[in-house]
Amino acid sequence: MVETNVVTDPSVFGQIAEHQHEQVVFCHDHETGLRAIIGIHNTVLGPALGGTRMWHYASDAEALNDVLRLSRGMTYKAAISGLNLGGGKAVIIGDATMKTEALLRKFGRFVQNLNGKYITAEDVNMTTRDMEFIRMETKHVSGLPESMGGSGDPSPVTAYGTYVGMKAAAKRAFGSDSLAGKRIAVQGMGHVGTYLLEYLQKEGAQLIVSDYYEDRALDAANRFGATMVGLNDIYDQDVDIYSPCALGATLNDDTIARLRCQVVAGCANNQLADENIHGPELVRRGIVYAPDFLINAGGLINVYSEVVGGNREAALTQTEKIYDITTQVLNKAEQEGSHPQAAATRQAEERIAAIGKVKSTY
Ligand code: NAD
Repeated sequence: MVETNVVTDPSVFGQIAEHQHEQVVFCHDHETGLRAIIGIHNTVLGPALGGTRMWHYASDAEALNDVLRLSRGMTYKAAISGLNLGGGKAVIIGDATMKTEALLRKFGRFVQNLNGKYITAEDVNMTTRDMEFIRMETKHVSGLPESMGGSGDPSPVTAYGTYVGMKAAAKRAFGSDSLAGKRIAVQGMGHVGTYLLEYLQKEGAQLIVSDYYEDRALDAANRFGATMVGLNDIYDQDVDIYSPCALGATLNDDTIARLRCQVVAGCANNQLADENIHGPELVRRGIVYAPDFLINAGGLINVYSEVVGGNREAALTQTEKIYDITTQVLNKAEQEGSHPQAAATRQAEERIAAIGKVKSTY
Protein backbone atom coordinates (compact mmCIF):
# COMPACT_ATOMS: atom_id res chain seq x y z
CA MET A 1 0.00 0.00 0.00
CA VAL A 2 2.70 2.42 0.97
CA GLU A 3 5.32 3.24 -1.61
CA THR A 4 8.40 5.00 -0.45
CA ASN A 5 10.56 7.18 -2.58
CA VAL A 6 13.99 8.61 -2.09
CA VAL A 7 13.72 11.95 -0.35
CA THR A 8 16.80 14.13 -0.31
CA ASP A 9 15.76 16.15 2.75
CA PRO A 10 13.73 13.94 5.12
CA SER A 11 12.59 16.81 7.37
CA VAL A 12 8.86 17.63 7.22
CA PHE A 13 9.39 20.87 5.30
CA GLY A 14 12.06 19.20 3.20
CA GLN A 15 9.50 16.65 2.00
CA ILE A 16 6.79 19.24 1.50
CA ALA A 17 9.18 21.37 -0.55
CA GLU A 18 10.36 18.40 -2.60
CA HIS A 19 6.82 17.49 -3.63
CA GLN A 20 5.96 21.21 -3.96
CA HIS A 21 2.84 21.13 -1.82
CA GLU A 22 0.90 24.27 -0.99
CA GLN A 23 -0.36 23.21 2.39
CA VAL A 24 -0.26 20.21 4.66
CA VAL A 25 -2.62 20.02 7.60
CA PHE A 26 -1.88 17.81 10.61
CA CYS A 27 -5.10 17.01 12.46
CA HIS A 28 -5.06 15.76 16.03
CA ASP A 29 -7.78 15.10 18.55
CA HIS A 30 -7.02 13.73 21.97
CA GLU A 31 -10.58 12.62 22.79
CA THR A 32 -11.17 10.47 19.72
CA GLY A 33 -7.56 9.48 19.01
CA LEU A 34 -7.74 11.07 15.56
CA ARG A 35 -4.42 11.52 13.81
CA ALA A 36 -4.82 12.58 10.20
CA ILE A 37 -2.88 14.45 7.55
CA ILE A 38 -4.50 16.39 4.73
CA GLY A 39 -2.16 17.04 1.80
CA ILE A 40 -3.09 19.91 -0.51
CA HIS A 41 -0.69 19.74 -3.41
CA ASN A 42 -1.87 22.36 -5.86
CA THR A 43 -5.03 24.46 -6.17
CA VAL A 44 -4.18 26.52 -9.26
CA LEU A 45 -6.95 24.86 -11.26
CA GLY A 46 -9.52 24.55 -8.47
CA PRO A 47 -10.20 22.97 -5.08
CA ALA A 48 -7.98 20.04 -4.19
CA LEU A 49 -10.02 16.86 -4.52
CA GLY A 50 -8.97 13.40 -3.41
CA GLY A 51 -10.12 10.61 -1.15
CA THR A 52 -9.37 9.86 2.49
CA ARG A 53 -7.47 6.65 3.12
CA MET A 54 -7.27 4.91 6.49
CA TRP A 55 -4.15 2.82 6.99
CA HIS A 56 -2.08 1.40 9.85
CA TYR A 57 1.14 3.18 8.87
CA ALA A 58 4.28 1.94 10.54
CA SER A 59 5.33 5.51 11.28
CA ASP A 60 4.14 9.09 10.92
CA ALA A 61 6.85 9.60 8.30
CA GLU A 62 5.35 6.82 6.21
CA ALA A 63 1.90 8.41 6.47
CA LEU A 64 3.30 11.78 5.43
CA ASN A 65 5.12 10.25 2.48
CA ASP A 66 1.96 8.49 1.34
CA VAL A 67 -0.28 11.56 1.54
CA LEU A 68 2.28 13.74 -0.26
CA ARG A 69 2.73 11.23 -3.09
CA LEU A 70 -0.99 10.52 -3.50
CA SER A 71 -2.09 14.15 -3.42
CA ARG A 72 0.47 15.13 -6.05
CA GLY A 73 -0.83 12.33 -8.30
CA MET A 74 -4.33 13.80 -8.04
CA THR A 75 -3.08 17.17 -9.32
CA TYR A 76 -1.77 15.56 -12.52
CA LYS A 77 -4.83 13.39 -13.05
CA ALA A 78 -7.19 16.37 -12.80
CA ALA A 79 -5.00 18.65 -14.89
CA ILE A 80 -4.51 16.24 -17.81
CA SER A 81 -8.26 15.53 -17.87
CA GLY A 82 -9.12 19.20 -18.34
CA LEU A 83 -10.88 19.43 -14.96
CA ASN A 84 -10.91 22.58 -12.87
CA LEU A 85 -9.68 20.72 -9.84
CA GLY A 86 -6.48 20.69 -7.85
CA GLY A 87 -4.88 17.71 -6.17
CA GLY A 88 -5.36 16.65 -2.59
CA LYS A 89 -5.61 13.55 -0.46
CA ALA A 90 -5.97 12.72 3.22
CA VAL A 91 -4.80 9.86 5.39
CA ILE A 92 -6.15 8.84 8.77
CA ILE A 93 -3.57 6.91 10.75
CA GLY A 94 -4.95 3.72 12.29
CA ASP A 95 -7.00 0.67 11.53
CA ALA A 96 -10.71 0.00 11.25
CA THR A 97 -11.04 -0.84 14.97
CA MET A 98 -10.35 2.82 15.79
CA LYS A 99 -13.21 4.09 13.68
CA THR A 100 -15.97 5.73 15.68
CA GLU A 101 -18.66 8.18 14.73
CA ALA A 102 -16.90 10.82 16.82
CA LEU A 103 -13.50 10.27 15.17
CA LEU A 104 -14.94 10.49 11.68
CA ARG A 105 -17.02 13.56 12.47
CA LYS A 106 -14.01 15.20 14.07
CA PHE A 107 -12.11 14.58 10.85
CA GLY A 108 -15.07 16.10 8.99
CA ARG A 109 -14.70 19.26 11.06
CA PHE A 110 -11.05 19.56 10.03
CA VAL A 111 -12.13 19.24 6.39
CA GLN A 112 -14.82 21.88 6.98
CA ASN A 113 -12.23 24.23 8.47
CA LEU A 114 -10.54 24.34 5.08
CA ASN A 115 -13.66 25.99 3.65
CA GLY A 116 -13.75 23.97 0.45
CA LYS A 117 -10.07 24.22 -0.41
CA TYR A 118 -10.01 20.44 0.05
CA ILE A 119 -12.88 18.15 -1.01
CA THR A 120 -12.72 14.61 0.31
CA ALA A 121 -14.09 11.30 -1.00
CA GLU A 122 -13.92 7.57 -0.25
CA ASP A 123 -10.61 5.70 -0.55
CA VAL A 124 -8.99 2.55 0.83
CA ASN A 125 -10.59 1.33 4.10
CA MET A 126 -13.28 3.99 4.09
CA THR A 127 -16.91 3.01 3.60
CA THR A 128 -20.02 4.82 2.49
CA ARG A 129 -21.19 4.78 6.12
CA ASP A 130 -17.94 6.51 7.16
CA MET A 131 -18.50 9.19 4.53
CA GLU A 132 -21.99 9.75 5.87
CA PHE A 133 -20.47 10.65 9.26
CA ILE A 134 -17.93 12.99 7.66
CA ARG A 135 -20.75 14.55 5.64
CA MET A 136 -22.56 15.43 8.90
CA GLU A 137 -19.81 17.95 9.64
CA THR A 138 -18.86 19.20 6.20
CA LYS A 139 -20.45 19.60 2.80
CA HIS A 140 -17.04 19.24 1.16
CA VAL A 141 -17.48 15.53 0.46
CA SER A 142 -17.89 13.98 -2.99
CA GLY A 143 -18.31 10.53 -4.50
CA LEU A 144 -21.33 9.76 -2.35
CA PRO A 145 -23.80 7.04 -3.37
CA GLU A 146 -26.71 8.06 -5.59
CA SER A 147 -29.11 7.43 -2.70
CA MET A 148 -27.39 10.31 -0.88
CA GLY A 149 -27.51 12.62 -3.89
CA GLY A 150 -24.00 11.69 -5.05
CA SER A 151 -22.56 10.46 -8.32
CA GLY A 152 -22.50 6.78 -7.33
CA ASP A 153 -20.05 4.01 -8.23
CA PRO A 154 -17.22 5.50 -10.34
CA SER A 155 -16.04 2.12 -11.71
CA PRO A 156 -18.20 2.03 -14.88
CA VAL A 157 -16.93 5.50 -15.83
CA THR A 158 -13.33 4.51 -15.08
CA ALA A 159 -13.82 1.46 -17.29
CA TYR A 160 -15.18 3.61 -20.12
CA GLY A 161 -12.16 5.94 -19.97
CA THR A 162 -9.81 2.96 -19.95
CA TYR A 163 -11.63 1.53 -22.96
CA VAL A 164 -11.40 4.70 -25.06
CA GLY A 165 -7.77 5.25 -23.99
CA MET A 166 -7.01 1.67 -25.06
CA LYS A 167 -8.61 2.34 -28.44
CA ALA A 168 -6.50 5.46 -28.97
CA ALA A 169 -3.35 3.46 -28.15
CA ALA A 170 -4.51 0.66 -30.48
CA LYS A 171 -4.91 3.17 -33.29
CA ARG A 172 -1.29 4.20 -32.78
CA ALA A 173 0.00 0.64 -32.69
CA PHE A 174 -2.17 -1.07 -35.31
CA GLY A 175 -3.36 1.82 -37.52
CA SER A 176 -7.00 1.22 -36.55
CA ASP A 177 -8.76 1.62 -33.23
CA SER A 178 -11.02 -1.34 -33.79
CA LEU A 179 -10.56 -3.98 -31.12
CA ALA A 180 -12.50 -6.62 -33.06
CA GLY A 181 -10.50 -9.83 -33.10
CA LYS A 182 -7.73 -8.34 -30.96
CA ARG A 183 -6.34 -10.63 -28.28
CA ILE A 184 -6.49 -8.76 -24.98
CA ALA A 185 -5.21 -9.99 -21.60
CA VAL A 186 -6.99 -8.29 -18.70
CA GLN A 187 -5.42 -8.70 -15.26
CA GLY A 188 -7.84 -8.18 -12.37
CA MET A 189 -11.54 -8.98 -12.47
CA GLY A 190 -12.61 -6.37 -9.93
CA HIS A 191 -15.04 -3.52 -10.31
CA VAL A 192 -13.34 -1.79 -13.23
CA GLY A 193 -11.93 -4.91 -14.93
CA THR A 194 -15.37 -6.48 -15.20
CA TYR A 195 -17.00 -3.37 -16.68
CA LEU A 196 -14.09 -3.08 -19.11
CA LEU A 197 -14.69 -6.65 -20.31
CA GLU A 198 -18.25 -5.69 -21.25
CA TYR A 199 -16.94 -3.07 -23.69
CA LEU A 200 -14.25 -5.37 -25.05
CA GLN A 201 -16.63 -8.28 -25.55
CA LYS A 202 -19.14 -6.04 -27.34
CA GLU A 203 -16.43 -5.06 -29.76
CA GLY A 204 -15.51 -8.66 -30.48
CA ALA A 205 -12.13 -8.91 -28.76
CA GLN A 206 -10.70 -12.29 -27.76
CA LEU A 207 -10.25 -12.15 -24.01
CA ILE A 208 -7.79 -13.69 -21.57
CA VAL A 209 -8.32 -13.05 -17.86
CA SER A 210 -6.70 -13.60 -14.49
CA ASP A 211 -7.54 -12.73 -10.91
CA TYR A 212 -6.05 -13.39 -7.52
CA TYR A 213 -9.36 -15.05 -6.65
CA GLU A 214 -9.87 -17.95 -9.02
CA ASP A 215 -13.66 -17.83 -8.74
CA ARG A 216 -13.72 -14.22 -9.98
CA ALA A 217 -11.59 -15.14 -13.00
CA LEU A 218 -13.78 -18.18 -13.64
CA ASP A 219 -16.98 -16.10 -13.43
CA ALA A 220 -15.56 -13.61 -15.90
CA ALA A 221 -14.41 -16.39 -18.20
CA ASN A 222 -17.90 -17.87 -18.25
CA ARG A 223 -19.67 -14.55 -18.59
CA PHE A 224 -17.49 -13.08 -21.35
CA GLY A 225 -16.31 -16.23 -23.13
CA ALA A 226 -12.76 -15.50 -21.96
CA THR A 227 -9.84 -17.86 -21.35
CA MET A 228 -8.69 -17.97 -17.75
CA VAL A 229 -4.96 -18.13 -17.01
CA GLY A 230 -2.88 -18.34 -13.83
CA LEU A 231 -1.77 -15.27 -11.89
CA ASN A 232 1.78 -15.30 -13.14
CA ASP A 233 0.98 -16.54 -16.67
CA ILE A 234 -0.82 -13.38 -17.74
CA TYR A 235 2.47 -11.72 -18.72
CA ASP A 236 3.50 -14.50 -21.12
CA GLN A 237 0.39 -14.51 -23.29
CA ASP A 238 0.72 -13.98 -27.01
CA VAL A 239 -1.65 -11.01 -27.14
CA ASP A 240 -2.06 -7.65 -28.85
CA ILE A 241 -2.89 -5.76 -25.67
CA TYR A 242 -2.08 -6.24 -21.99
CA SER A 243 -4.47 -4.44 -19.64
CA PRO A 244 -3.34 -4.17 -16.00
CA CYS A 245 -6.49 -3.66 -13.92
CA ALA A 246 -5.37 -5.01 -10.53
CA LEU A 247 -2.42 -3.58 -8.65
CA GLY A 248 0.38 -1.12 -9.33
CA ALA A 249 3.99 -1.80 -10.39
CA THR A 250 3.18 -4.74 -12.68
CA LEU A 251 5.42 -3.20 -15.35
CA ASN A 252 8.83 -3.95 -13.91
CA ASP A 253 12.23 -5.52 -14.65
CA ASP A 254 10.79 -9.02 -14.56
CA THR A 255 7.53 -8.62 -16.47
CA ILE A 256 8.37 -6.22 -19.31
CA ALA A 257 10.85 -8.66 -20.80
CA ARG A 258 8.11 -11.29 -20.93
CA LEU A 259 5.39 -9.18 -22.57
CA ARG A 260 4.53 -10.12 -26.14
CA CYS A 261 1.97 -7.37 -26.72
CA GLN A 262 2.14 -4.13 -28.69
CA VAL A 263 -0.06 -2.05 -26.38
CA VAL A 264 -0.34 -1.69 -22.60
CA ALA A 265 -3.52 0.04 -21.45
CA GLY A 266 -5.24 -0.57 -18.14
CA CYS A 267 -6.85 1.14 -15.18
CA ALA A 268 -4.49 0.24 -12.33
CA ASN A 269 -2.72 3.13 -10.62
CA ASN A 270 1.09 3.45 -10.75
CA GLN A 271 1.65 0.66 -13.27
CA LEU A 272 5.29 1.51 -13.95
CA ALA A 273 7.48 0.28 -11.08
CA ASP A 274 9.96 3.03 -11.95
CA GLU A 275 8.71 5.62 -14.41
CA ASN A 276 12.19 6.68 -15.49
CA ILE A 277 13.33 3.13 -16.23
CA HIS A 278 10.22 1.32 -17.36
CA GLY A 279 8.62 4.17 -19.35
CA PRO A 280 11.60 4.33 -21.77
CA GLU A 281 11.95 0.53 -21.73
CA LEU A 282 8.45 0.08 -23.16
CA VAL A 283 9.28 2.57 -25.92
CA ARG A 284 12.50 0.69 -26.67
CA ARG A 285 10.54 -2.53 -27.08
CA GLY A 286 8.04 -0.88 -29.42
CA ILE A 287 5.15 -1.16 -26.95
CA VAL A 288 2.64 1.71 -26.94
CA TYR A 289 1.85 2.64 -23.35
CA ALA A 290 -1.34 4.55 -22.49
CA PRO A 291 -0.49 6.53 -19.32
CA ASP A 292 -2.36 5.13 -16.32
CA PHE A 293 -3.32 8.39 -14.62
CA LEU A 294 -4.76 9.66 -17.89
CA ILE A 295 -6.84 6.68 -18.99
CA ASN A 296 -8.12 5.83 -15.49
CA ALA A 297 -9.37 9.37 -14.82
CA GLY A 298 -13.02 8.49 -15.55
CA GLY A 299 -13.72 7.94 -11.84
CA LEU A 300 -12.41 11.38 -10.96
CA ILE A 301 -14.35 12.91 -13.85
CA ASN A 302 -17.47 11.24 -12.43
CA VAL A 303 -16.85 12.76 -9.01
CA TYR A 304 -16.17 16.15 -10.62
CA SER A 305 -19.57 16.02 -12.27
CA GLU A 306 -21.02 15.81 -8.74
CA VAL A 307 -19.03 18.86 -7.63
CA VAL A 308 -20.15 21.00 -10.59
CA GLY A 309 -23.73 19.74 -10.62
CA GLY A 310 -23.50 17.48 -13.69
CA ASN A 311 -24.75 13.94 -14.15
CA ARG A 312 -23.54 10.51 -15.30
CA GLU A 313 -24.16 11.37 -18.95
CA ALA A 314 -22.06 14.52 -18.71
CA ALA A 315 -19.32 12.52 -16.98
CA LEU A 316 -19.29 9.94 -19.78
CA THR A 317 -19.14 12.68 -22.44
CA GLN A 318 -16.16 14.28 -20.68
CA THR A 319 -14.55 10.86 -20.21
CA GLU A 320 -14.76 10.20 -23.95
CA LYS A 321 -12.23 13.01 -24.42
CA ILE A 322 -9.61 10.66 -22.96
CA TYR A 323 -9.37 9.23 -26.49
CA ASP A 324 -8.18 12.53 -27.97
CA ILE A 325 -5.97 13.39 -25.03
CA THR A 326 -4.27 9.97 -25.28
CA THR A 327 -3.65 10.59 -28.98
CA GLN A 328 -2.16 14.03 -28.19
CA VAL A 329 0.07 12.59 -25.49
CA LEU A 330 1.33 9.79 -27.74
CA ASN A 331 2.13 12.36 -30.46
CA LYS A 332 3.85 14.58 -27.94
CA ALA A 333 5.99 11.71 -26.64
CA GLU A 334 7.06 10.89 -30.18
CA GLN A 335 7.85 14.51 -31.05
CA GLU A 336 9.81 15.03 -27.84
CA GLY A 337 11.57 11.68 -28.05
CA SER A 338 10.31 10.87 -24.55
CA HIS A 339 7.89 8.25 -23.26
CA PRO A 340 4.10 8.65 -22.87
CA GLN A 341 4.06 8.86 -19.06
CA ALA A 342 6.60 11.69 -19.11
CA ALA A 343 4.76 13.45 -21.93
CA ALA A 344 1.46 13.20 -20.03
CA THR A 345 3.04 14.62 -16.89
CA ARG A 346 4.48 17.52 -18.88
CA GLN A 347 1.15 18.17 -20.58
CA ALA A 348 -0.53 18.37 -17.16
CA GLU A 349 2.17 20.75 -15.89
CA GLU A 350 1.83 22.95 -18.97
CA ARG A 351 -1.91 23.31 -18.41
CA ILE A 352 -1.42 24.25 -14.75
CA ALA A 353 1.21 26.85 -15.72
CA ALA A 354 -0.97 28.34 -18.48
CA ILE A 355 -4.13 28.55 -16.35
CA GLY A 356 -2.10 29.90 -13.45
CA LYS A 357 -1.20 32.86 -15.66
CA VAL A 358 -4.86 33.34 -16.66
CA LYS A 359 -5.70 33.71 -13.00
CA SER A 360 -2.94 36.21 -12.31
CA THR A 361 -5.22 39.28 -12.57
CA TYR A 362 -8.17 39.97 -10.31
P1 NAD B 1 -11.02 -4.04 -7.14
O1 NAD B 1 -10.44 -4.20 -5.79
O2 NAD B 1 -12.49 -4.11 -7.32
O3 NAD B 1 -10.38 -5.11 -8.16
C1 NAD B 1 -9.06 -5.48 -8.19
C2 NAD B 1 -9.03 -6.94 -8.56
O4 NAD B 1 -7.67 -7.32 -8.79
C3 NAD B 1 -9.55 -7.87 -7.48
O5 NAD B 1 -10.52 -8.76 -8.03
C4 NAD B 1 -8.31 -8.62 -7.00
O6 NAD B 1 -8.60 -9.93 -6.56
C5 NAD B 1 -7.47 -8.61 -8.24
N1 NAD B 1 -6.03 -8.83 -8.05
C6 NAD B 1 -5.25 -8.43 -7.03
N2 NAD B 1 -3.98 -8.84 -7.24
C7 NAD B 1 -3.96 -9.49 -8.41
C8 NAD B 1 -2.95 -10.12 -9.19
N3 NAD B 1 -1.70 -10.17 -8.78
N4 NAD B 1 -3.30 -10.71 -10.35
C9 NAD B 1 -4.59 -10.67 -10.79
N5 NAD B 1 -5.58 -10.08 -10.10
C10 NAD B 1 -5.28 -9.51 -8.93
O7 NAD B 1 -10.44 -2.65 -7.70
P2 NAD B 1 -11.00 -1.74 -8.86
O8 NAD B 1 -11.87 -0.70 -8.26
O9 NAD B 1 -11.51 -2.59 -9.96
O10 NAD B 1 -9.65 -1.01 -9.31
C11 NAD B 1 -8.66 -1.70 -10.04
C12 NAD B 1 -7.43 -0.81 -10.19
O11 NAD B 1 -7.80 0.41 -10.82
C13 NAD B 1 -6.77 -0.39 -8.87
O12 NAD B 1 -5.39 -0.27 -9.10
C14 NAD B 1 -7.37 0.97 -8.61
O13 NAD B 1 -6.52 1.76 -7.80
C15 NAD B 1 -7.46 1.53 -10.01
N6 NAD B 1 -8.47 2.56 -10.18
C16 NAD B 1 -9.77 2.30 -9.90
C17 NAD B 1 -10.73 3.30 -10.09
C18 NAD B 1 -12.18 3.04 -9.82
O14 NAD B 1 -13.03 3.83 -10.27
N7 NAD B 1 -12.55 1.97 -9.13
C19 NAD B 1 -10.33 4.57 -10.55
C20 NAD B 1 -8.98 4.80 -10.86
C21 NAD B 1 -8.06 3.78 -10.66
